[in-house]
Amino acid sequence: MATHRIWNPAAECMPREQLRALQLERLKDVVRREYDNVPLYRRRMDEKGVKPEDIRSLDDLQYLPFMQKTDLRDEYPTGLFAVPRREIVRLQGSSGTTGKPILAGYTRNDLDNWSEMMARTIGAANATADDIVQVAYGYGLFTGGMGAHQGATKLGAMVIPMSSGNTAKQIMMMQDVGTTILSCTPSYAIHIAETIHEMGIPLSSLKLRAGTFGAEPWTEAMRKRLETLLNIDALDIYGLTEICGPGVAYECLEKQGMHVNEDHVIVEIIDPVTEKPLPYGEKGELVFTTITKEGMPMLRFRTHDLCQLDASPCACGRTFVRMKRIMGRTDDMLIIRGVNVFPSQIESVLVSIHGVAPHYMLVVDRQGATDTLEIQVEITEDVFADTVGQLETLEKQINERIKSVVGISANIKLVAPKSIPRSEGKAKRVIDKRKL
Ligand code: AMP
Ligand code: ZN
Repeated sequence: MATHRIWNPAAECMPREQLRALQLERLKDVVRREYDNVPLYRRRMDEKGVKPEDIRSLDDLQYLPFMQKTDLRDEYPTGLFAVPRREIVRLQGSSGTTGKPILAGYTRNDLDNWSEMMARTIGAANATADDIVQVAYGYGLFTGGMGAHQGATKLGAMVIPMSSGNTAKQIMMMQDVGTTILSCTPSYAIHIAETIHEMGIPLSSLKLRAGTFGAEPWTEAMRKRLETLLNIDALDIYGLTEICGPGVAYECLEKQGMHVNEDHVIVEIIDPVTEKPLPYGEKGELVFTTITKEGMPMLRFRTHDLCQLDASPCACGRTFVRMKRIMGRTDDMLIIRGVNVFPSQIESVLVSIHGVAPHYMLVVDRQGATDTLEIQVEITEDVFADTVGQLETLEKQINERIKSVVGISANIKLVAPKSIPRSEGKAKRVIDKRKL
């Protein structure tokens, strides 16, 4: 059984009844502020005929209009800010590389709350002032670097603000300084781990004991791989720019889903088609309402992330509801020959097969009227030396497993070790040529 250190037990273990009362009080307040200060939202509420005083219980949340990423685009750069410019002390933005970013503005209180949420997140890896946290998320507009940095600082840990990239130097710092916690995307963590092994560095020369990995989808199989390669506890963390960045939800050492920081956000699951709230346990789209944010509050923000909530008690003692791993996105879901396909399903199959590296690319195309799916999969060095016959057997094995799990057959293309581009931030794993 894991021992659990809890950064802020008064908040993280608050009795549910007390938590709900706090949520309601904060919800009423934020709805009022949003209505008074953000013209777009006021218009939407007026159209729906809802007034701030209509929010009398948490159930009344369902009568509020949704917000979407498109609203942030339409109101770019600062149309959704709810306070005067001089109260905004920080801008961050989305991680996309094309077009205009999504911008988020933070007041001083917002930064304090975000730091607190991330202190709980890193604290859930049992981190204390004795820890050395190496932040290998990108710094800049992207929230990952600054978020982890502020959280670890609040916790009193020593921070190494490496940002992403320069893998050899990352590893050198780990060795020389004795990093205990690594914070980066899971795909970059795999890259760092593989490089450590390639360089022949013994794990005994490292002090790494945990990793807080997020910002992109990953799988249980990848968790096992990272834990084995690095001899660490690999924890999932979740967040998005529109809500605050990382720290919206975080896993404890039970590794049974991520606790949502419910004193700062209210989480709902909705049916993405009917937009009706679903009961806990059902699969649907995550929707978040920020209840403490001042700079850019978000009411019922549709994430397009597919997930399930779990309200059962957690052995760690935290009372916050947990969200399972993100199962895909309503917009990333590929429909191939009429079948709904999530890249995460394919990844979990690949990572479970011996001789296959966790690096792959899905190429979707259309020949005539038929969709085609090619899965480029990297093989490991030892398998690379196999005979053509053995490689064909491996291809067949992969295809059969994909067929049984995902429900469609694919053209499997084994590629040489190191031939799929490595990512230092969020990995890109799908090329859909049908849209071109
Ligand atoms: P951004 O605002 O650019 O940081 O992107 C936020 C998005 O990254 C979320 O809506 C999710 O789709 C994805 N994301 C963040 N953390 C995770 C995670 N732990 N697992 C899966 N997807 C994640
Ligand atoms: Zn827990």
